[in-house]
Amino acid sequence: MTKLLYLTDCYLQEFESKVIDVVEEGVILDKTAFYPEGGGQPSDTGWLKWGDSTSEVKHVYKKADIVYHVLNGPIPEKDASVKGLIDWNRRYRNMRYHTALHILAGVVYNLYNSTITGSQISEDKARIDFTLEDLNKERVEKIEREANRIVEEGRRVKIRFIPREELMNNPQFIRIRPELIPDIPILRIVEIEDFDAQLDGGTHVSNTKEVGRISIVKTINKGRFNKRVEIILESI
Ligand SMILES: [Zn+2]
Repeated sequence: MTKLLYLTDCYLQEFESKVIDVVEEGVILDKTAFYPEGGGQPSDTGWLKWGDSTSEVKHVYKKADIVYHVLNGPIPEKDASVKGLIDWNRRYRNMRYHTALHILAGVVYNLYNSTITGSQISEDKARIDFTLEDLNKERVEKIEREANRIVEEGRRVKIRFIPREELMNNPQFIRIRPELIPDIPILRIVEIEDFDAQLDGGTHVSNTKEVGRISIVKTINKGRFNKRVEIILESI
């Protein structure tokens, strides 16, 4: 199985790896820093290099626990040693947006005890849906104000791993539907210091200051207990 290097180091931009297999779906590596599409976060892109060859990595995805790198260009052979390079501008933007969504999730959970029904990061914006009944203008302003306070406070964002039993004893870590919890003994928790901690497999910045100012640009009523919040981040 591919070792997922981004789970412990979100800032890794280059890595050495070996090709385990080449199949129709894509190239399988023994380890990778490429984030495969999932959890509302888009796939990383970048390049693979070996010998005199370079190939563009245009999409990375995970299916039945296998990570496939879809290439545009030459294909390395099985057992080849390759170097992976992440398109860092794209990934870093995704990390900032992903962390912004954590901050919003924490604010809304703390203020209104509401959880998440979905989220998606796009090219220049992101959205998150909450199990909220009431999302009036006053509440939107309060959520935005509180979120930006957390950004400005420059809180550390930490990754830790806990046994499944500890997760089940801390239901506040779970903001997703229980059936989406991965069936593995050790689970990853992403924690914004003294503010929020949740089960998570994505990539994040290491300090909330790196997120930059959050603007809530739109809210959509998706149902009685389903409210969508759209955000954009000021460039930093
Ligand atoms: Zn996350």
